[in-house]
Amino acid sequence: MTPTHASGPSAESIAAPRSIAGIASYHAHIYYDRQTTRSDAEILRRQIAERFAVRVGAWHDELVGPHRQSMYQIAFGTAVFAQLVPWLMLNRRGLSILIHPNTDRPRDDHLVQSVWLGTPLAITGDVLDDVLKPDEAPENLPPNTTPDRTDI
Ligand code: ZN
Repeated sequence: MTPTHASGPSAESIAAPRSIAGIASYHAHIYYDRQTTRSDAEILRRQIAERFAVRVGAWHDELVGPHRQSMYQIAFGTAVFAQLVPWLMLNRRGLSILIHPNTDRPRDDHLVQSVWLGTPLAITGDVLDDVLKPDEAPENLPPNTTPDRTDI
């Protein structure tokens, strides 16, 4: 096999890279199975709330939005990423976790610009907006936890 060489830079490589200033916040979606791993999800949820200033979302035993498995959401500011994500790497209890930025491109945030911890799961991208409407801003909600543990 002869290696194929690109004839020149593609339009994509010429375009200016997106700035991380466009990331208003992040979500970590923590997936579980109602029969087998909900108790792990409960323990993880409590451990996160004890340690991190984040916004813990509602339980979604029933499927919601683009998600095809039960889950809850952890919303967090950009300053929390460098502590929370490594902590989740070490403590996710075998659960699949989707971490995505919140920018003005919801579909790409979930499908293209995201990272998975554990086994990746399917996401239904069609229900997500391609681009936010002009009067909409990327989500940046305040924390609802009062962390009192420093052993991260
Ligand atoms: Zn999300």
